[in-house]
Amino acid sequence: MSRSSQHRGSLEPESINAAGTEWIDAAGTGSIEAAAGPSRSARGPVGRGWLSLAPVPEGHTIHRLAARHAELFAGDKLHAASPQGRFAEGAARLSGTVLEGTEAYGKHLLHHYAGELTLHVHLGLYGKFTDGPAEPPEPVGQVRLRLASDRHWLDLRGPTACELLTPPEVAALRDRLGPDPLRADADPERAYARIARSPTPLAALLLDQSVVAGTGLIFVTEALFRARLPPTMPGRQLTRTGWDALWGDLVGLMRLAVEQGRIDTVRDTHLPEAMGRPARVDRHGGEVYVYRRPGAPCHVCGTEVSRGELAGRNLYWCRTCQAG
Ligand SMILES: [Zn+2]
Repeated sequence: MSRSSQHRGSLEPESINAAGTEWIDAAGTGSIEAAAGPSRSARGPVGRGWLSLAPVPEGHTIHRLAARHAELFAGDKLHAASPQGRFAEGAARLSGTVLEGTEAYGKHLLHHYAGELTLHVHLGLYGKFTDGPAEPPEPVGQVRLRLASDRHWLDLRGPTACELLTPPEVAALRDRLGPDPLRADADPERAYARIARSPTPLAALLLDQSVVAGTGLIFVTEALFRARLPPTMPGRQLTRTGWDALWGDLVGLMRLAVEQGRIDTVRDTHLPEAMGRPARVDRHGGEVYVYRRPGAPCHVCGTEVSRGELAGRNLYWCRTCQAG
């Protein structure tokens, strides 16, 4: 079995989750309409933690990492090691080679090294990079990969994927990902071709990384709200005009997130200062319409924000604004 096929199943957890999508509410009764906010509190802690995993970093985070790593190391000959040992062989092959450039494709980070070596990292739920200047400290915890130049070091812990790819394997990775709204070479027609013939709910399609790459739950729920589209609408009902607007909005929201380092989706007229409401308090920081706001009033119409479950993941929407 080749390296790429060994990892194939673990690279796209969202694609797997979204496949064969079945809509159920939080109690599993099969009614998405029933899944409103506060009435569920008796069943468990609503919102943070309940039925929700820590979000996989969305595409803007990976694009920011790619830019940072290029800024830190591009053109440098790097020392590579795997203090934890699980990537010892790969690190040995990388060590002493020059990082030529980096790129992000959806939630996948690629480092391109001299000699057609590509390092592929998918952070998954738990992966994290840390970096610092000068000499690296003693490794703490499970450091899968440590890269260091004369000026800076970078540690990677807990990724879903950390592997070396050959050029054909890089091509195969790209082929199975949909267009990434943050990439200049993205072709939104590829995504629409999938969406326009699918009976699957729009939210599930947009979370499927083989349809659109880089979009996670926050961008998808918020873009659907801004487009006033119900998340359950079958893809094939989305018009050409509707897709063009939705794609354009994703591009704009994601570019803003790359610049700001957080996701803000609220239009000026719905900002806290414009509405005289408190600012959002959340570790994500950004102002949003519906994401993780179940039971709270919609910023546009006042209806309580609804929550439902999509293949094990929470989904949020306003049943008034997004009635379709
Ligand atoms: Zn509303």
